[in-house]
This record gives sequence, structure tokens and C-alpha cells, in this order.
Amino acid sequence: MAHLLLIEDDPAIRSALIRALASRGHAVDSAADAMGGLQQMMAQPPEAVVLDLGLPDLPGERLLTMIRAVSDVPVVVATARDDEGLVVRLLDAGADDYVVKPFDPSQLEARVRAVLRRTSGSGSTPPASPVHRVGGLTVDPDRHVAQVDGQAIDLTPLEFDLLAYLAANPGRVVTRRELLREVWQRTDSGRTVDVHLSWLRRKLGETAEQPRFLHTVRGVGLRLEDGAQP
Ligand code: CA
Repeated sequence: MAHLLLIEDDPAIRSALIRALASRGHAVDSAADAMGGLQQMMAQPPEAVVLDLGLPDLPGERLLTMIRAVSDVPVVVATARDDEGLVVRLLDAGADDYVVKPFDPSQLEARVRAVLRRTSGSGSTPPASPVHRVGGLTVDPDRHVAQVDGQAIDLTPLEFDLLAYLAANPGRVVTRRELLREVWQRTDSGRTVDVHLSWLRRKLGETAEQPRFLHTVRGVGLRLEDGAQP
């Protein structure tokens, strides 16, 4: 299905994951430390990277920053800690998604598939998607361009998908759970949604207190409409 690079120092976890990912049709390269992983990545650029945070030669967070300096490859991080500050830092450093150890290989594979789906057109040409216009906001899924009042805004693939989903459902209250299911294809923690929404707000030039497009409906979710339009 895809060429993956697994960077994990624990030999038992590494071989179990290679087996699990390969059994689902992926071609898996692996490295046991950060420098080996980086070398491997340069030699044979993978379609997605699975990165263990606890590596012997370099903190995984550092490696993530180095990867992001040279590549847009999707990265799914495996962390032994489930703390909010860490997750926010990881996402901020450019991780596309994460799993918390101990995790089931099928859970990891689902995350990998989701990031691949987001970043690739995967084979056959998808049908043309309509351009969404909501007041001063324009989202063109085919050209992958979002504009506010005619100015293009620079979004990560995930932020773009989030905004495109909301723009395809203008004026309707969308719940966090729905966003998790439709944009992330997962059903657990809603923290990820909150973190990305706050970045998206920043790029749209608004705050939660003074929104223009993303209007919070307390206790339910949010609704996209252009508050600057009469
Ligand atoms: Ca480790």
C-alpha cells in the first residue's frame, strides 16, 4: 500500500510493528535510532514515517523538527506519555498524528492510513470537488487553496481538511466528535481538534473571543459563517 519508515529502538516493538504493517501490504523500512532514521529517510524517501519519541541518540521531538526542516512527509508519533503539553508540542513541531504506547498495531495502521489518505490523491483521480464560498472565505479542495478576502492563507494539510469540512457545511453546527470522525477518522480524544482549531483561528486572523468564521456553540460544537458579512 505504501512505503513506510519506522524509527523505533526497541527490537521487539520494531519487529512486531514491521510484521503488522507488512501484513497489511505496506513496504516497511526501519531504523533503530534517530540518525539512522534520518539517513534512511534521505536515501529512500518514504510516504509516511512512524516515529518513536524515546530514541537512544536524540529525543524524538528533535528528530521531528529535523525531519520537518527538510520534508513534508506525514509523521505519526508513538509516545509513551499521554500528556497534553507534550501532544501540543508534537503537533506544533509538525507531527500529523500520534498514538500512545502501549497501542495496538491495528490502531497505528489506522492512523497511518488516515495521514496517507490526507496527503495523497492515492491513484485514480477523485471527482472534482466544488469550491466552497462562505462570505469572504473561499476553499478550493481540488487546488488546495484557501483564501480570506482574496488573500491566500498558508495551511497545513490537516488544517486545510478541517477548514474544507467546515466550509462544506456552512451555517450548520458541527460537533467535535463529528470533526474527529470525518477529518481525523478517529473517535478518541477531542484535544487534537481543539489544538488544530486554535491554529486555524490564528491563520484565519481571529480569536475564540472575537471570531469571524469559527463560531463556538457552547457545549455543542462550532458553526462556520462569515460574521463580517451583513
Ligand atoms: Ca524507544
